[in-house]
Amino acid sequence: MIAESWRAARSCAPPGHLDAAGCNVPSDRTLDAVVEHLRRERETGGYQAATDLHAARSALAALAGAAAADVALLESGTAAMAALLGGWRLPPGSRIGVTRAEYGSTLMLLRRLARLHDYKLLDLPVDDDSRLDPDGLASALAGGLDLVVLSHVPSHRGIVQPAAEAGRLCRAAGVPLVLDVCQSFGHVDAGGVGATAYVGTSRKWLAGPRGVGFLIVPGLTADMDTAAPALGGHVWAGEEPSPLPGAARYETSEGPIAARAGFGVAVLEHRALGPSAVHARLAELGVRARRLLDGIGGWRAGEPLDEPSAIVTLRPPPGADPAAAVEDARSRAAHESILVGAVPVGRAPADLPTPVLRISPSPGTRQEDLHALARVLDR
Ligand SMILES: *Cc1c(COP(=O)(O)O)cnc(C)c1O
Repeated sequence: MIAESWRAARSCAPPGHLDAAGCNVPSDRTLDAVVEHLRRERETGGYQAATDLHAARSALAALAGAAAADVALLESGTAAMAALLGGWRLPPGSRIGVTRAEYGSTLMLLRRLARLHDYKLLDLPVDDDSRLDPDGLASALAGGLDLVVLSHVPSHRGIVQPAAEAGRLCRAAGVPLVLDVCQSFGHVDAGGVGATAYVGTSRKWLAGPRGVGFLIVPGLTADMDTAAPALGGHVWAGEEPSPLPGAARYETSEGPIAARAGFGVAVLEHRALGPSAVHARLAELGVRARRLLDGIGGWRAGEPLDEPSAIVTLRPPPGADPAAAVEDARSRAAHESILVGAVPVGRAPADLPTPVLRISPSPGTRQEDLHALARVLDR
């Protein structure tokens, strides 16, 4: 049912698209909303073509149990994370807990901020699958942390982190939690976490257009502000800039408004499809794909076969040059009209010994596309 609705909403989805975690296929209505907005900007004037995104902001925030005023739209997940962490006035010497599975750009940002502000980055304990160990987090919190940053679902590994448990522990300890939901909104339930802030992106599982990222900050405090104040999100308080209430402080007035309009449609479509039905369908596809592909041609799944996610990573056969094997498999798949991702080591340098192939089906994926990929890998 979900599969049919997903496909019906896309009159020309490319066949063999198995890269939802990289860049998904927007629906016809999403695409139309972008084009329609650009047309109105031209015909009525850019500033006159304003679009009301309140319903979309509410629906997006609801995925985290938050409200529309907690949402800020930015240009990417990376830009959203930089806006959030870059301006957060943590005391010098603050201790920030992260796992080795953290996203490459976030680690780069944290290292830069650590150098500038003398923050200490602490490695949170994980198991062999790089899954956060809640007891280890509890000990780290007891030892003193000022912030925890966690990717709910990493980009390079199809595991689902115990976010609700992490949220509970951080709240009990009074330590803010930033949850990166770039790979989980539209894919895996992110409700009940109670994080201070969520960082996400449009084009992946929510199937919005490129060029939109978002912040949801239900736990906003006075020491949280953007690194670069701007007239869109700030007012003059005498000679000093003062942030607007809520998440508005993180938004700039200029941006890809047409893409935001398209993203709004994509979010409302996700809600109409039913997030829990989408999650269930994706989990089922991920498990099915791993059971089919694990072991074929010597490729091995990089996460437990039954992990309830639709990110399926495959490690190259032993003996092969890993980078060359991944690139070769990706291009042979492309030749058969199958689009899969290749994840380079830099995506998670502390966690990824070699590049991996990434298969990420969308709810509309057909079984025959997975079988076609299996034939490619079997050679
Ligand atoms: C894609 C991704 C990001 C960054 O999002 P962009 O929109 O590409 O900047 C951050 N974290 C994770 C886990 C991601 O998969």
